[in-house]
Amino acid sequence: MKNGTAVGLKGFLAEYGGLNFDNVVFRPRAPFTCSFGLVKRYRVLAGGKLEWGTPGIHFGVDRGASDCTFQGRSNGMFAPFDFYKSGWVADSAPFGTELWLHHAHGFSLRLCHMWPKDCAVIDTATAGAAITRKAFLGTIGANGVADGIHSHVELHSAGFTAGGSCALLDAILREKYYQAPDQEMDIHEVAKVYSECALTKGMPESQMVAAYRELREQKGITFLNRFKCVRRVNGKVVVYYSTEHLFDM
Ligand SMILES: [Zn+2]
Repeated sequence: MKNGTAVGLKGFLAEYGGLNFDNVVFRPRAPFTCSFGLVKRYRVLAGGKLEWGTPGIHFGVDRGASDCTFQGRSNGMFAPFDFYKSGWVADSAPFGTELWLHHAHGFSLRLCHMWPKDCAVIDTATAGAAITRKAFLGTIGANGVADGIHSHVELHSAGFTAGGSCALLDAILREKYYQAPDQEMDIHEVAKVYSECALTKGMPESQMVAAYRELREQKGITFLNRFKCVRRVNGKVVVYYSTEHLFDM
């Protein structure tokens, strides 16, 4: 298994079209509707009622419906890379369903909200088998907590380094944004990111700072920068990355 060394990075970039990932096909021309990171979110109130408007973190990237068709499919999702293993979670709250795609370079994609009848690779994923690049995965849905059909895609590290990060994805971030991928933003930078998010524009800095402190101290979430976030749950480390910033997908 490769670990994202310089040679691994070079080969990966050559295969998928350089730092802009021009050869990656996922959801051609579908609009981005909710970005990764700090955004206005639903909050669960006592009794399970949802309230809109709390600042929080979105671990994935959402893309909505599009009227474009690609390879005869409308609102289809295609495998962006070659995956050596897959998985299917049939009943997941709040996501409805989860399709997992595991890459040999140490990262995984989690695609949520598909209706089982619309998943074209359900048998393959249930068996945990490989899925080839550009394969039709299925049509986006609104299963689980969703206000309309869309794709919610999370990019997780598979934990090949001590801190739980993916060496290959860190190497891409370094090349693309000239930024140390493990340097945590200070709280005022976090507030600045919030203030630039479409959904949290105009929110007072004190409210943004309080929201981030709550995420950090009560939920074990460290938002390193606008591309990457670390979450510690019961001694386990999960690192999330932005598919939009890394792969424009
Ligand atoms: Zn989402």
